[in-house]
Amino acid sequence: MPNVRVYSDSRIEQERPDLFRSALEGVQDVTTVQRLPVDFEWFTDDDADGYFTDTLNRAHRPERKQVFLDQVLLDFANNTQMGDFGELDFALVTPDIFSEDTNFVFGMTVEPWKLSVQSIARFVAATADEDLQRASIRHLAKHEFAHMRGLADPEDFDNPQRDAGGTKLYDGHCANTCSLQQVMSVPETFQLIEVLPEDEAGFCVSCVSALISKREE
Ligand SMILES: [Zn+2]
Ligand SMILES: [Zn+2]
Repeated sequence: MPNVRVYSDSRIEQERPDLFRSALEGVQDVTTVQRLPVDFEWFTDDDADGYFTDTLNRAHRPERKQVFLDQVLLDFANNTQMGDFGELDFALVTPDIFSEDTNFVFGMTVEPWKLSVQSIARFVAATADEDLQRASIRHLAKHEFAHMRGLADPEDFDNPQRDAGGTKLYDGHCANTCSLQQVMSVPETFQLIEVLPEDEAGFCVSCVSALISKREE
């Protein structure tokens, strides 16, 4: 198991370290399902001379009050060791994020780069219940990290989720009651968390075996 290098912006470090820990638990849920140990290396904004916050600021789109994630991912991949082949990089950020042709995204994983970025914004805005915030961040982290471990294409699933209305938004997800089911909104996330089985971090039988089969990747 390679190291997982984890990153947070300074606001998370200062204001919500609990959410950062929840994200780490989500990552660890996946490695536990894979029967692998995991080592974390935590890089804060101070370690990087403010680079993460600067990058988020550069990609900020004031007219949308959001950060353009595609630009952040490219910046990370071009200007840091994040995205280097063989290393697993996972970043948790404060601002709301969007990708091209979306209103917002909870997070995004570029599986070939082994690079994932996840935002806390939507869950923090949606509820004052901090237990629910933490459960949601943990859920999303395990979902994104499972993509990073190689469950990213329709062929990876016994019961792939079908495309709705000609979009590709559901591609590479699981149609079972499973942590890898795609969700499109905060209420859908809250509902899914309620019904997921506790065993195997909520992954269905076929996703558990797929994750185990990809443990060397
Ligand atoms: Zn997904
Ligand atoms: Zn599944």
